[in-house]
Amino acid sequence: MFDRLSSLVIALTLIGIAAIFAALAGGDPLGIAMMLTAGVLAAATVYSALPPAAVEGSAAAQAPAEAPPVSFLRHPDFARWVDQEKDPLLGVADNIVAIANDAAIRLLGRHIVGADIRTAIRHPVAAEWLSRNDADAALETINLLDFPRPGQRWTMRVAALSNRERIVFLADRSALDAADRMRSDFVANASHELRTPLAAILGYVETLQDMNGEADAPTRHRFLSIIEREARRMQQLVIDLLSISRVEADRFRRPTTEVDLTAIVRHTIAQLQDSEAERPRDIVAVLDDAPLLMLGDAAQLGQLAHNIISNAMKYGRPRTPVTVELLREGARVRLSVSDEGDGIAPDHIPRLTERFYRVDEARSRSVGGTGLGLAIVKHIGERHQGQLDIASELGKGTRVSVTFPLVTGAQGENS
Ligand code: ADP
Repeated sequence: MFDRLSSLVIALTLIGIAAIFAALAGGDPLGIAMMLTAGVLAAATVYSALPPAAVEGSAAAQAPAEAPPVSFLRHPDFARWVDQEKDPLLGVADNIVAIANDAAIRLLGRHIVGADIRTAIRHPVAAEWLSRNDADAALETINLLDFPRPGQRWTMRVAALSNRERIVFLADRSALDAADRMRSDFVANASHELRTPLAAILGYVETLQDMNGEADAPTRHRFLSIIEREARRMQQLVIDLLSISRVEADRFRRPTTEVDLTAIVRHTIAQLQDSEAERPRDIVAVLDDAPLLMLGDAAQLGQLAHNIISNAMKYGRPRTPVTVELLREGARVRLSVSDEGDGIAPDHIPRLTERFYRVDEARSRSVGGTGLGLAIVKHIGERHQGQLDIASELGKGTRVSVTFPLVTGAQGENS
């Protein structure tokens, strides 16, 4: 009700008035003096016992005591946590950016600290959500399409710390989207590749059925050959699709078995020469007898060699050599396959290992290509710490080579 100072003044005044009345009433001066002293002492005791806040006498002190708002953003632990976060993170008080970690500064610029969050994150959807202050806004993950650049996607989450303070989390989803796109493109491409031979098979079967056995022998033979060729194309495609998924599944499993690359390449060449391939005699093998030991999966390395050598046979000119060499290069071995063919234009070379990428689709199909051969080579190469190199000259030919690390200790064996 009264502060400490006013209480003291009132007490002293009352004591003074009591003393005057006592004197006027003819009281004993010694008794009055003793009462006066006791009153002053009592007032001083009460004064010192009252809480000091009462002394300030300010308006704030007279209002019911209210604790100052707690700031989470200013807590030193918060700043430490923000700095450790790898994704962009911003602390916002009353929509003003109070704190931003390095990732946020890199993404949005240094000027954002002190700026309004709705101008710091320049995206209409973000601005709309950040203007809201309801509970829903704190729970949802908001998609920011074409942010910060066209074709990219980030997500934003907002967590409320108090009425005034919020944390804004940003995360880049562009790479995930690219992986999703690749996966769905792959499924679409694979379906398309399977549908084409399937349509041909069904078409020729229906024609034969419509002819009700009236087709002459050469026509029947021609149709059946086409059906067989298309069925084999489908078969090869299914084999390659299974291979690529198996190789991808093994991607992070480093091979631990010691294998001899010379023996693997020799075996692959023999298989190709025995097969019905058109030009088995064109293969020229430049191989040493000595083993070249590396850590590997023999079946996968055989498939890698098969794909590269059969490409050289498919795309090289008939009756020109396909040279297969194994060369030791320090601690590594190079498997190199050269052909004399039309070669590949430089702008195609970086894309050859993409699934279903072909320089000339019709040509690839006509030689039984699936467009997956070099994608498989790339994956097998990566699993074996291989380095793929494709060098080509238009009109002259192509050299595809892969180097692999040799097993330590095997280096000097055939030098
Ligand atoms: P494909 O099954 O079509 O041969 P690959 O993945 O093995 O698929 O090769 C991709 C494309 O690279 C081929 O379609 C072809 O255009 C080109 N290519 C591969 N090897 C050679 C080569 N030795 N000479 C010329 N072009 C080649």
